[in-house]
This record gives sequence, C-alpha cells and structure tokens, in this order.
Amino acid sequence: MVGKSDLEEEPESKPSFKAVCAECKQECEIPFEPTEDRPVYCQDCFKKRRPPRGFQRRDFFRGPRKMFKAVCAECKQECEIPFEPTEDRPVYCKNCFVKRKQEEF
Ligand SMILES: [Zn+2]
Ligand SMILES: [Zn+2]
Repeated sequence: MVGKSDLEEEPESKPSFKAVCAECKQECEIPFEPTEDRPVYCQDCFKKRRPPRGFQRRDFFRGPRKMFKAVCAECKQECEIPFEPTEDRPVYCKNCFVKRKQEEF
C-alpha cells in the first residue's frame, strides 16, 4: 500500500509566476512574484545581464594605476590623482575630495 505517494507531492515546492521578460519580451516563469517597479528577465537574459565571472572591478581599484600630479583647487597642495587633470575641471586632493563629497549631503 505504500505506493508512489512520494512522487505526487513534488511540484508544489517551487512557486512560479508568469512574467514577461523585459529584455526579449518572451513570456517566462520566475520563482518570485513580479513587481511593477522592477524589470523581470527570463533566465537567459538574466544570465546575460550578469557581469561575466572575473569582472575586474576590484582590480581596477587595487592595481597599480598611473598617477598624475595635480594641484588641489581647494588647499593648493600638490597631490596625485588617478586620472589626467583637465583644464576645465578643478582637481581636489583626497582630503578635499572627501570633504566636498560630505558637504553635498
Ligand atoms: Zn529574456
Ligand atoms: Zn586639497
């Protein structure tokens, strides 16, 4: 009498919702309820959108960068910045840069 009851209760565990992929416009099923304010992507597009493995964002900050000498527009001290200074934009040293950022808030 112990039959195949185990098999019968399996599909319920994963809820899935019908949604339309914001990328390829195909109907797809997602494991969460779609909301109005968030685009929904099918599995393919979701994978595509994710940055590839080894995306070097972190290395970008860590690695030895070319530094440029500049004079801070605020405290007039010479400093080094990780980008080439341009004439039409004031350059700030790290300290002043942080200070200015905080003031914006
Ligand atoms: Zn898609
Ligand atoms: Zn400064």
